[in-house]
Amino acid sequence: MITRLDAGGPNAIAVSNGIVGDEWTLWIVELALTEGLSKYNEWLNAGPISTAVLTTRLNRLVEADILRRTAGQYLLTKRGRQMWPILLSMWAWEQRWVDAANLPEMRHGKCGRIFSPLLACEACDEVTAARDVLGKFGPSGGWERSIPTGVTRRRAHSGNRPTELITQTMALIGNRWSTALVGAAFLGATRFGEFEQRMGAPPTIVADRLRTFCDIGVLVATPNPQRADWVMYHLTDKGRAFFPVVATVIEWGHRWFQAPEGPALRLTHTKCGRAFHPRLQCGECGERLRGASVQVERSRRSVAT
Ligand SMILES: [Zn+2]
Ligand SMILES: [Zn+2]
Repeated sequence: MITRLDAGGPNAIAVSNGIVGDEWTLWIVELALTEGLSKYNEWLNAGPISTAVLTTRLNRLVEADILRRTAGQYLLTKRGRQMWPILLSMWAWEQRWVDAANLPEMRHGKCGRIFSPLLACEACDEVTAARDVLGKFGPSGGWERSIPTGVTRRRAHSGNRPTELITQTMALIGNRWSTALVGAAFLGATRFGEFEQRMGAPPTIVADRLRTFCDIGVLVATPNPQRADWVMYHLTDKGRAFFPVVATVIEWGHRWFQAPEGPALRLTHTKCGRAFHPRLQCGECGERLRGASVQVERSRRSVAT
């Protein structure tokens, strides 16, 4: 069971990203959260998932204590229920920056409006952007310990994927090297050598991922004014807007998969000077969001066949 981490081993970032960087895992959790699915056959009938994939994912979720198996049902644990801010942040980013067509709309039960979530600081209540948060490795930090655990998973092939596509989210965090690149970019890497060193990946992989990230538009490559042969890579608005996903995954990871030495990463909100813990609020009424007050609406969509 991945409930307790070992000293010197993979840290909270590694374990949480190993879990959320898999489309089918997220799809299973999402349907448990939003539709209340709890039986094997309910998931099997809900989408193009094979029995083999469903069985391995359910077992992994039980091992990670996200689902608990009882009397023929798989029920979300508290750890599993608390994954909703991650899913909400992914949907919001895809809706704003990629394609809303296949994603549900979210209604805030309290104000009754369709909303997008905003990231705020738990300590001072201010809406917070990526550039206002400073990240430094904590006692269990370091690049090597933060590389997502688990097998390197291949992306699901078209025709055999969850119907609610979060394709670009998966391009960013769906495998260990990409996730490491996202982390390196948010922690200030701009040059090829910095990415290479932080990711611990062969240059061909680093080059390939940087190209993909530029193609998707989360990074932009610009010549370095000091060194003509050095290109610099910076996060674009779209790239920085991915920060709520990063922040909610790290928060969830620290809450449930803390290494014995302490946190993997310490985030500081530069505007209030305090430790940054993410909180989602309704973009319409400004109220703090709670899992129970978010209604997922799927009826609007026409399901592509
Ligand atoms: Zn603050
Ligand atoms: Zn609201």
